[in-house]
Amino acid sequence: MEPCAQGKPPNSEPVDLHAANLYATVDLGAIAHNVGVLRDRSGTDVIAVVKADGYAHGALRVGRTALAAGAIALGVAQIDEARALRAGGIDGHLIAWLHTPQADFAGGVADNIDIAVSSPRQLARVIDAARTLGRRATVSLKVDTGLARSGISIDEWDRTADLLASAVAEGAVELSTVMCHLAFGDVPDHPLNSVQSQRLDEAVADLRRRGLTPKLVHIANSPAALTRPDLAHDAVRPGLSIYGYSPIPELGDFGLIPAMTFESRISLIKAVSAGQGVSYSHTWEAPEDTMLAVVPAGYADGVPRLLSGSITVHVNGRLFPGVGRICMDQLVIDLGPDGGGVAEGDRAVLFGPAAAATSSITPAVDPVPTATDWADATGTIDYEIISRIGSRAVRRYVNDPWGDSDG
Ligand SMILES: *Cc1c(COP(=O)(O)O)cnc(C)c1O
Repeated sequence: MEPCAQGKPPNSEPVDLHAANLYATVDLGAIAHNVGVLRDRSGTDVIAVVKADGYAHGALRVGRTALAAGAIALGVAQIDEARALRAGGIDGHLIAWLHTPQADFAGGVADNIDIAVSSPRQLARVIDAARTLGRRATVSLKVDTGLARSGISIDEWDRTADLLASAVAEGAVELSTVMCHLAFGDVPDHPLNSVQSQRLDEAVADLRRRGLTPKLVHIANSPAALTRPDLAHDAVRPGLSIYGYSPIPELGDFGLIPAMTFESRISLIKAVSAGQGVSYSHTWEAPEDTMLAVVPAGYADGVPRLLSGSITVHVNGRLFPGVGRICMDQLVIDLGPDGGGVAEGDRAVLFGPAAAATSSITPAVDPVPTATDWADATGTIDYEIISRIGSRAVRRYVNDPWGDSDG
C-alpha cells in the first residue's frame, strides 16, 4: 500500500516501493472523470470497455473505478477476461462478446457473465451450458449491421432469433442486451452510422414481435459516444476515451484526461567520445564528446522500435533525443556534452498526459510526449500504442477517488 499517494496532486510522483525499472502509472481520478465526460456528452449510461486488460491499464482497477464512477456495466472481448474480473471481486454486469467454439461457455454461465453471441451455434452452446448447469444463462445478441466482422449475419438472424425464443420459453436463457458495432464511428456523419442504427432497430423490432424485449440496446464506441448521441440508444460502449484519449483528435480532446503515464528511471549514465557508435549496428555516432543515458524500456515493453532515432524522453522537465536503435529492454538518450543535469535514478517519462512531468520540484519546460505522438510517428493509432504496453511495466495506481492507491 502507498498511503502517501492518496491526496497528492495528480502529477506528483508516487512513492516507489518496489523500485521497478518501468511503470505504467494510472490516474484513477482521470478514469472516473472520463466516465463522467462520456455520460454527460452522450446523455446516456456508460458500459466501460476494459478488454485487453483495460487497454493495458489494468482491467480490474479500471473496471472497479468505472463502476464506482457510475458505469452500469463492463465490456470485454473474451469470457475468460470477464471471469477474471469476477474472480477479482467485481459483481456487476459483465458482457463478453468474442468466442471460439471452444470457449468456456459453462464457466461464463456459472459466473453469470452476459455472453453476447454472434451466431446460432454460439447461442446453442450457451443453451447447452445452461441446461447442464441447471442455471439460466444471460445472453446478448451481437448483430452484424454492416461492420462484417463479428455479429449475427442477416442470413442467420431468423435461426438465431427462433432459437432464442424457444430457449427463453424453456427458461434456459434470458435476453439481456442487443448490440452492434460501427464501421465508421470515427466519421461522425458517415451515412452508414445511421443505417447501422436503423438495422439494429429492425432487429429489436423483430425480437419484440417474437415476444423478446432486450433490457438495453447499445451501439456507440468512443467516437460515436462523443459525437452522435442520437445513435446511442440506451447506453454507450466506449473503450479508448475511458482511458482519456480523443478518438477524433481533429475535434479536440473533449475534456478527456489521459490516465496513463509510462515512465522509467535513468539506469546508467556514461561519457562517450566523438565518433563512438551507439547501440546495435551503430546507427548513430556521437558527433562530439557527449554524455549518454540508458533508459530501461524497450520494444518488449511497448516502445516501438520504429521510433529508433526519433523518440524523445522527458527528464527533469526537458526532452532528450533517443539515439541509435531501440532494443528489447532499453534505449539510449543523448544528454549532451554537459550531461543536462541528469543523474542516474532520475525519472524518465516516455509518454503521459501533457502535464505528467510537472511536480513541485521540477516544473515542465518541454511538453511531455503523448501516446498519440508515438502513434502519429509510427503510422498507427493510439489504441495500439497503449494496449501494447508490456507486462514488465508495473501498474501503479494513483488518485483513486474511492480508496487507497497502491502499486
Ligand atoms: C473495443 C470495442 C469497443 C470500444 O471501442 P473504442 O473505440 O475503444 O471506444 C466497443 N465495442 C466493441 C464491440 C468493441 O470490440
